[in-house]
Amino acid sequence: MPGTVIIGAGHGGVQLAASLRETGYEGRVRLISADPDLPYHKPPLSKSFMKTPDAPLQPLRGEAFFDQNDIALDLGREVVRVERERKRLICSDGSALDYDKLVLATGTRARKLTVPGAELDGVHSLRTAEDARALRADLPGARRVVVIGGGFIGLEAAAMLAARGLSVSVVELAPRLLGRAVSSITAQTIASYLEGEGVSLHLDTAIEAIDGQNGRVTDVRLSDEVLAADLVLVGVGAEPMDELARDAGLVVENGIVVDEFLATSAPDIFAIGDCVSFPQVHLGCHTRLESVQNATDQARSLAQTLTGTPQPYAALPWFWSDIGAVKLQIAGLAREGGETLATRSDDGQVKSVYHLAGGQLVACETLNSAGEHMLSRRMIAEGITPARTVLETGDTAEIKKAYAAVKNF
Ligand SMILES: Cc1cc2nc3c(=O)[nH]c(=O)nc-3n(C[C@H](O)[C@H](O)[C@H](O)COP(=O)(O)OP(=O)(O)OC[C@H]3O[C@@H](n4cnc5c(N)ncnc54)[C@H](O)[C@@H]3O)c2cc1C
Repeated sequence: MPGTVIIGAGHGGVQLAASLRETGYEGRVRLISADPDLPYHKPPLSKSFMKTPDAPLQPLRGEAFFDQNDIALDLGREVVRVERERKRLICSDGSALDYDKLVLATGTRARKLTVPGAELDGVHSLRTAEDARALRADLPGARRVVVIGGGFIGLEAAAMLAARGLSVSVVELAPRLLGRAVSSITAQTIASYLEGEGVSLHLDTAIEAIDGQNGRVTDVRLSDEVLAADLVLVGVGAEPMDELARDAGLVVENGIVVDEFLATSAPDIFAIGDCVSFPQVHLGCHTRLESVQNATDQARSLAQTLTGTPQPYAALPWFWSDIGAVKLQIAGLAREGGETLATRSDDGQVKSVYHLAGGQLVACETLNSAGEHMLSRRMIAEGITPARTVLETGDTAEIKKAYAAVKNF
């Protein structure tokens, strides 16, 4: 029996292989990845990996783990076609592989910028270890960096590069940073922090072109200004890698569409992680999330299904981002038109932003306040909302007391 084949050895794929073994799955497990590196943590690529020229990749599991758990690891191999009728995969080297159950854990690719000059040398994106190595290798000759896009990856890299003494500008099309991922008060706090670190922000600004000389970037042309650039980092979002599913006739809409058990529209084919549009119980609609939590929790949930104890996927989303010295953590999902409550620490800095919908706590953003983040995760998951007057204090001990009082009621 060919067993379970997982396409993609990122956060979701590797966790699934591990969880299958932990839950007693006895069939064969094969992990295939187009990426040639031993599976690694992606978040450090825009953080600690940029700090020093020789910071190593952080492996998700040691090499021995795969052997010890009888997981076949097929690195540097790309699957180009799924033949559903024959339950067979075709790889780019022409080889074929059979499967009993197939899991698509293919993640996302960096969205490309479509302005003239986007293909010049010195213009980078950041999604894989190979991208990160290329960017890092280009840093020694650079003094002025332009980051295009004010999302998490761009801002993490901007803070890191500014700390390395580079002159960094961030250009963002929207009037504020971080799109709708966080409240405007959190976005403003992060903007002020970055400016304090010497990063120059150009909001509400479109890129007209990237100019170069001898094939290498020299400038980024904005509508009203030209920014000199030795290096450009494009961080304008990611797109789901859903072509295999689409070509195989699976339902795809903003990612591979799955049900609450992470099953696709085709029998014996499942999908997890960044590439998936799943029914989000907390929002009551299908959504796609890009986070380590979502990929690994979906993997754990699918392992239960594949070993005969299916549970609908219902984990509370949470996320973190390290933007220089600011640790931003988000629990839950904010709702359109909800209410926000911001708290501040003694020095006047924003510490947390609570999101309420219909009086119910649904999400919380914290800045360097890990205890409050953990507490808010518990409260949201358990549907507990302390009184507004208590939340407004931002005093973790007081909020904890109120939470305990409701729980023990
Ligand atoms: C620079 C960076 C920083 C990040 N920081 C954070 C953070 O701070 N916090 C957070 O929660 N999340 C962060 N993320 C997001 C997080 O890494 C992703 O949400 C997570 O990796 C998703 O896991 P996944 O398994 O769905 O996909 P991935 O980990 O992307 O893995 C997908 C794998 O599929 C393989 N693949 C795709 N197509 C094929 C094919 N046809 N054949 C064979 N193999 C294929 C790819 O090579 C890849 O190995 C960051 C991401 C990046 C890039």
